Amino acid sequence: MKKKETVKRRNGETRPLPIRRLAASPIHPILLGAHMSIAGGVNMAIGRARSINCTAMQMFVKNNMQWFARPLTRDEIRTFLEHQQRSELFSIFAHANYLINLAATNGQFHANSIRSLSEELVRADRLELPFLVLHPGAHLGAGEEAGLEKIMESIDRVFSALPKIKTRIALETTAGQGSCLGNKFEQLAYIISRVREPERLCVCLDTAHVFAAGYDIASEASARKTFREFDRIVGLHRLVAIHLNDSKTGCGSRVDRHEHIGKGEIGVAPFRVIMGDRRFRKIPKVLETPKGKELREDVMNLKTLQSLARNQ
Ligand SMILES: [Zn+2]
Ligand SMILES: [Zn+2]
Repeated sequence: MKKKETVKRRNGETRPLPIRRLAASPIHPILLGAHMSIAGGVNMAIGRARSINCTAMQMFVKNNMQWFARPLTRDEIRTFLEHQQRSELFSIFAHANYLINLAATNGQFHANSIRSLSEELVRADRLELPFLVLHPGAHLGAGEEAGLEKIMESIDRVFSALPKIKTRIALETTAGQGSCLGNKFEQLAYIISRVREPERLCVCLDTAHVFAAGYDIASEASARKTFREFDRIVGLHRLVAIHLNDSKTGCGSRVDRHEHIGKGEIGVAPFRVIMGDRRFRKIPKVLETPKGKELREDVMNLKTLQSLARNQ
């Protein structure tokens, strides 16, 4: 007998695929979308994503340039969870704000980072988002070893104070700009192997970042090689999201500048691999490419990606 179709909503949890989707879409839709603005309220992101037919979406859980915000109200949470189109998105997840640095050397900055991350995890959990993408941190001159140590301690502290929160932290691969850590797969693997609750960590891979960090993914063969390396060092079973971005900067530049798909230094090759590889099918893939309010650029990039999926 055929297994009943389900949709993964949270860590390990599944729920039946809505009937109308079953009839209208292939058995496993490609989880593809973009980062969406929460201007006007967190619920607004859902309608924006669906207006351009996203099946996956990334969002902030509050203003991304501020440390703190008043808690989400019951009403805001309900409006989000009960949004008519929420079930049309097979994956919705969060990205942490850009101020957090778990390796901060300044005491106040570090304290703010811990509190801010904790509050965002709580917000993401209330919105039933399975994970919050986080850049591991920048050592600011303290050195790689000390930086990684501080990040691990911080993660332990945050998780131990929030035992009931189901939302995980997805450590993101970074470009290694300045003193940012996470530009080598080994660093992510090291953090995961040394924290007290590794099962609460997972990983998000950003194509522009790994390229800028020095992993050549500009050809299909080199992209496959890099994914094999990621699998060997970090493990593909830990991969929960992919940021699909081309790069304005070259391989190894360690400068983080996103570009439209196929228009940057990377080109379309790794995107064809990602869109075609069955192992990535159930992993949400989202754009973080430049765009205006009308989302025309997202539509263009999604079209490019869909045509790559068809032309394997
Ligand atoms: Zn990011
Ligand atoms: Zn980036």
